[in-house]
Amino acid sequence: MYAYQADLYCDDCGETIRADRAPVVAFSDRGDSDSYPQWASDDSESDCPQYCAGCGLFLENPLTDAGIGYVIEAVQEFISSRNPDNAYAAVSGDATVIKQWVDFYDIPVEEVFDLVTLSDVVGAIARG
Ligand SMILES: [Zn+2]
Repeated sequence: MYAYQADLYCDDCGETIRADRAPVVAFSDRGDSDSYPQWASDDSESDCPQYCAGCGLFLENPLTDAGIGYVIEAVQEFISSRNPDNAYAAVSGDATVIKQWVDFYDIPVEEVFDLVTLSDVVGAIARG
């Protein structure tokens, strides 16, 4: 992935921006991510899941402990907002995103939620 102007980009988008910027900054690239996309390690941990600022691709970055907490909280909010006993709860979070996080980060949904089983999550996701 690439870092450019305070955002992260997938390899495809980063390379496209590099190609566009190359004629302008060809000889002035000094490792400054404000003027030219800089390669960034896919292994750097973040406090939340990262997405490409260009195309929205999930960058599958590893998470810090705070990042794991963030994801678990988002999954909890998603589930409680889908609770059929709570008819007025606002739906929180995008089902596709929540499923992506649960799958990719291998969130132990059954251990994290005492009263909510994995099938509840799957059911909530299936209802969209
Ligand atoms: Zn992209």
